[in-house]
Amino acid sequence: MNTKYFYLNTIGCQMNVYDSEQIAVRLATLGYEQTAAMDRADLIIVNTCTVRAKAEQKAFSFIGRLAKMKRNKRRLIIGVGGCMAQQEGQKILERMPCVDLVFGTQTIDRLTGMIQQIETRRCRIVDVHMNDTPEMPEFIKDSRPDNQVSKFVTIMRGCDNYCAYCVVPYVRGAETSREPQSILQEIQMLVDNGVREVTLLGQNVNSYGRKQNLVTFPELLAKINEIKGLLRIRFTTSHPKDLSAHLITAFRDLNKLCPHIHLPVQSGSNRILKRMNRKYTKEQYLDKVAKLRDTCSEIAITSDIIVGFPGETDADFKQTLELVKTVEYDGLFAFQYSDRPHAPSVKLPHKISEPLKRERLQSLLDLQETITKRKNKALVGSTQLILTDGLSKKQVSGEPQSTGQALQWTGRTATNKIVNFNVDPSAADTESLPGKLVGVRIDKAYSHSLFGKAMNAEPSDGGLKGVENYAA
Ligand code: SAM
Ligand code: SF4
Repeated sequence: MNTKYFYLNTIGCQMNVYDSEQIAVRLATLGYEQTAAMDRADLIIVNTCTVRAKAEQKAFSFIGRLAKMKRNKRRLIIGVGGCMAQQEGQKILERMPCVDLVFGTQTIDRLTGMIQQIETRRCRIVDVHMNDTPEMPEFIKDSRPDNQVSKFVTIMRGCDNYCAYCVVPYVRGAETSREPQSILQEIQMLVDNGVREVTLLGQNVNSYGRKQNLVTFPELLAKINEIKGLLRIRFTTSHPKDLSAHLITAFRDLNKLCPHIHLPVQSGSNRILKRMNRKYTKEQYLDKVAKLRDTCSEIAITSDIIVGFPGETDADFKQTLELVKTVEYDGLFAFQYSDRPHAPSVKLPHKISEPLKRERLQSLLDLQETITKRKNKALVGSTQLILTDGLSKKQVSGEPQSTGQALQWTGRTATNKIVNFNVDPSAADTESLPGKLVGVRIDKAYSHSLFGKAMNAEPSDGGLKGVENYAA
């Protein structure tokens, strides 16, 4: 039998990356092999996002390219999944005649059956059914080798927060948490396969377990912290209103929990926060930031901010800039507000013009860049504990080197900063570096990364808070 190939294009957040892996495992059970060469594929799936208008345009332009391919390859099956599929449903089939399958965010467990039907009957299918009390899709173990040091693990799905600008509750459905046992088993399996860091995913991990009366999020973290062989735990995203005192102390008490929190503020103006339905004030937010820093002095804080929310005045925006100056984030994802179907803010008056949104975005990014550079510069001369991911991008794509020359590796600090570093080839067993914690002296700081030299390379189980032990 000829091998069948599938090509998978993932647009959007880490949750989509995780879902795509679960899609890939299911396709493998139908005899499909994954390919990186799109023209070789018998089945092409695009896992879409619709959080901002740009992501949606990206998906439609990709499907447009596929239409051309399909003219020369009639049996090619094209599937559109994820958030945009959920939102648009049948309309995608009408707009894009090349598409055979539209599958929503709660249909992964039905995917293989739908593909089989299309293979045998050449029919077109739309399944965007959503449950009021959604179930977590069955986790299927991926036995394909991938050598990754760090993996995402989805611990909950959906969202009940209904922020005024956000489409997520409508396209991902109600919040549901996954059973702790299933999460622990998945992480154990990943660790057995060589993974050393996990990032727990949820739209608001702070409310993990609450609805179904499972363990709390800090309790789940404590259980994960016990897994032998796992070196680092990260999570995203935290809604500031639900950031509990218990979670704050977890940064002090759990040695594998990385000192980094992504705590999206969205705006520095109380008036806009209220219109956004965020349910906290700037003062409450700043109070939580202060408590985090009091409890864990090295903690890095990053955030999301939306500029140009309907009705945002110059004075509101100035307050956002002031908040950014006060907090001094380690990094920031800043977005221009875009109207999303279903989101209540679509109906709000006083929309901000595109040029003004662009201008505000630029001044926010400029401010953050100055802060990031200053913070990165302050690390020059220090020694940081880096979890090595693999060879740096430059090393992978660069010229072949002569033997004996230092290789450039890449990894992250516990605070999630990217560090590229040279390792003296005679000083360490470099082949086994991926997945190892390495003490790296930071020599240079850039806007988005740091550069340094490895001082030692030692396997270690935990000990994250021991950075100072590696002083050069
Ligand atoms: N659940 C997370 C939270 O509450 O922070 C984030 C989810 S959302 C997928 C990621 C980010 O996209 C949000 O934090 C927000 O800054 C941005 N975003 C969401 N809707 C948006 C919109 N309509 N326009 C611009 N940015 C948006
Ligand atoms: Fe969207 Fe708000 Fe839910 Fe985050 S918490 S996913 S921004 S509704």
